[in-house]
Amino acid sequence: MRCLSCHKLSMATFCKKCQERLLKPTVTKRTINNLEIYSFFKYQHIQDLLLTKHTPQGFKIYKALAKLSFKLFIDNFIKNDPRDVYVVGVDENVKSGYSHVALLTHEMSRKYVKVLHGKLMARSLVNYSGKKLQYRLENPRDFIYTGPKDINVILVDDIITTGTTIKEAKEVLEKHGIEVLFALTLADVEV
Ligand SMILES: [Zn+2]
Repeated sequence: MRCLSCHKLSMATFCKKCQERLLKPTVTKRTINNLEIYSFFKYQHIQDLLLTKHTPQGFKIYKALAKLSFKLFIDNFIKNDPRDVYVVGVDENVKSGYSHVALLTHEMSRKYVKVLHGKLMARSLVNYSGKKLQYRLENPRDFIYTGPKDINVILVDDIITTGTTIKEAKEVLEKHGIEVLFALTLADVEV
């Protein structure tokens, strides 16, 4: 098979060279409404990979990216933080048969890290892609949360643009007594 990034022959989804390139620490941090949001990749570095999202290869690529980022992050996190935490994916609306965000959160499941699936759902299916901040503010996702209350949560989304979605998700969870510790995204578009 071939590396899904450079298309050279490779046994793994990404060849050794591409793994090294993708593994280079490019974690960036943004703070929105007291919420720290960490992103593992700069959007332009993995843009070609992310554009596969709705293609047959998207599933493999998201999984492989999650192993290089979310998986390593959570192993490091639990070494330093003994609390029970929950992981909540922000945008789990399924258009292509599976949720891309669930592919990311799936890699974070550990003994004391519980991944909640389909507990935070957007009632509005408005498409934000390419839309300006004003449009996003006027058309909220209108999230409904049906998971456990009074827990510690790490929020996860695949891409952060303006941050309005994550901000709205945090506010909804807080109404359920939840402490949102921080948020993680695969890529930040605005850095
Ligand atoms: Zn490669």
